[in-house]
Amino acid sequence: MNSDSKRPSATSPLSAAEAQAIEHKSLGAASALHLADPEPGLGTVEVDGLEALTQGVLEEIGEDPEREGLVQTPKRVAKAMRFLTSGYGADIQDIVNGAIFDAEDYSEMVLVKDVEFYSLCEHHMLPFFGRASVAYLPGEKIIGLSKIPRLVDVYARRLQVQERLTMQISRVLEDILEPRGVAVSLTGFHLCMAMRGVEKQASKTTSTAFTGEFQRNPELRREFISLIKSRESDPV
Ligand code: ZN
Repeated sequence: MNSDSKRPSATSPLSAAEAQAIEHKSLGAASALHLADPEPGLGTVEVDGLEALTQGVLEEIGEDPEREGLVQTPKRVAKAMRFLTSGYGADIQDIVNGAIFDAEDYSEMVLVKDVEFYSLCEHHMLPFFGRASVAYLPGEKIIGLSKIPRLVDVYARRLQVQERLTMQISRVLEDILEPRGVAVSLTGFHLCMAMRGVEKQASKTTSTAFTGEFQRNPELRREFISLIKSRESDPV
């Protein structure tokens, strides 16, 4: 009942990502609240809810959170977790601001390949990582090339499944550039597969998204794939 009241309603005009971000923040705030003011009279102490939760995890797995090596661990984990999920709070307009330019009749494929990404799988909260290749066919606009890896990070730094990450990268370029087409290919190595359960240590996952002319024209898709392929055999 508590968590329901914090969720945006079904009729909310927010996108799923925005709703996630709000939920993420409200959960953080809720756990911080519980921890505030542990001793009456000392005033409110700002405690990161993630720190206390991490302390709880250490206890649950049978560790001693007081031993030397672990004393600072909750603080470090909280900081790392905030960074690894910082994509929820990112503002796309801020990121691309000033880096959208007139295409000046350039109409051929623009490809940024082998962009490293690091994400967390939403089922196990274990890392998956690899390389993204992102291409688009300009309409009226082009984007500063360094912005493409930054956009990849915005969506990678969340709890993800690789399929959604692939789609979101494609969609954000569609929205920002209104290009004639977008092609995205991700190859990822999932630690939740390698370390637990199936223990398939060498398997990699590839996902693709094609829009516009890339979707309609198999020749363009082949060109994209042959351009990114030369490195596909590299270890991720
Ligand atoms: Zn997983």
